[in-house]
Formats: sequence, C-alpha cells, structure tokens
Amino acid sequence: MTPSNSHDARQHAGRLFMITAPSGAGKSSLVKALLEHDPEIELSISHTTRDPRPGEVDGREYHFVSVEEFEERKARREFLESALVHGNYYGTSRVWIEERMAAGKDVLLEIDWQGARQVRAQFAGTVGIFILPPSIDALASRLHKRGTDSEATITRRLMGAGAEIAHAPEFEYVIINDNFDVALSQLISVVTASRLNFSNQAARHREQFIALGVPV
Ligand code: 5GP
Repeated sequence: MTPSNSHDARQHAGRLFMITAPSGAGKSSLVKALLEHDPEIELSISHTTRDPRPGEVDGREYHFVSVEEFEERKARREFLESALVHGNYYGTSRVWIEERMAAGKDVLLEIDWQGARQVRAQFAGTVGIFILPPSIDALASRLHKRGTDSEATITRRLMGAGAEIAHAPEFEYVIINDNFDVALSQLISVVTASRLNFSNQAARHREQFIALGVPV
C-alpha cells in the first residue's frame, strides 16, 4: 500500500462483514481461504467460554476465558455483541472493532445470528453473508468427519442447525457451500462488489471523484 493510499484509508471507515452458518457448513475453511486471498480483511478474534479443541491456540482461534471473566467483561460493556451458542458464551471485542474500522480496515466477524442482529442494529451498512450446506445430510457428515467434537456435542450442533438456518433471510447474501472453490469465489465476489458501492467508493476516492465532477 502506498502512503497516499494509507492516507485515504484513514479518511473513511472500514467495512464490516459478518459470516454466519450452522456448524459444519464449512464457514471456517471459507473464512481462512478468504483471509489468505485478501490481506485487507482482518478477522475479529472472539472471546468464548467453551474449551479449546485439540490444536486450538488461545488468542489465535479465540480468547478462551472463564464464565466469570466473560461476565465481568460483559458488565464492563467490552462486547459489541455477545450470545449464548450451543451452551457456551461468545462475544466480540468492541474496542478492537472500532479501532480497526476507524483505521479504514475491513473487519470480518464469524458470529451466530443473534450476534449478527446486535451488530446490524449498531452499524448501518454491515454486510451479512449466510453460508448454507447443500443438505442436512452433508452437514451431519462434515461434523462427524471433523472428529473434534463428542457425539453429544455433534447432536446438539445438528439440532441447533435448523434454528440457525431459519435466520438466513436476515442476511444480504447467501452462499450454498456445495463445492468449496465455487463457494470461495462467490464469497470473494460478494466482498469485492460490496466495496464498490457508491458511498464506499466516494469516501475512498473523494479527491478523484471531485476532480471528475462526480457530486459527492
Ligand atoms: P465454534 O464453537 O464451533 O467455534 O462456534 C460455534 C458458533 O459460535 C458458531 O456459529 C460461531 O459463528 C459462533 N460464534 C463464534 N464467535 C462468536 C461471537 O463472537 N459472537 C457470536 N454471537 N457468535 C460467535
């Protein structure tokens, strides 16, 4: 990024993307690939009270905290949104999001429908993307193949899937993750298109728009 670009970036707020899906729809793999493809997007690391899965590292996948710490942080209004999902608490850091967006960065939240509602109420122009599995059978088989959750956890997540899917109509975009490469290219297209909307472009290229006579 050139110095003039980074100056531009400071003059407009970054965009906020939310990705929501039932567990097993392939959301995390899609997000990982999107971030590798597009270094301009930063992923918010949530706080959670659930136990780390094998291979998960504190501060990388999540900030793993006790229920007490979570409640204290919530009482201090540190979370932009928070929710109880599959029996555990999850929350998004308010300060981190506000700092990144003020710096003109695009931020991505991987959150459930309850959190998405809370964020939408606070930030106009949030781009919500819902990832659907091709079928409930595909969802069940992905959860089993992942091999990181107990049978009880898988059953609870499958039962929760229908409830999550019922909220798909609240999202601006829907991607059916049948073929990973197709779904990824659709996700990249959504991000690209939403950056090109008029108000975003006018904020990002204000001087150029004025020079061209575009009313801004
Ligand atoms: P997992 O435990 O499989 O990593 O995530 C379970 C669910 O919690 C997923 O649906 C995920 O989107 C949701 N989740 C993760 N972080 C947050 C968060 O900060 N806020 C909310 N509301 N949901 C979250």
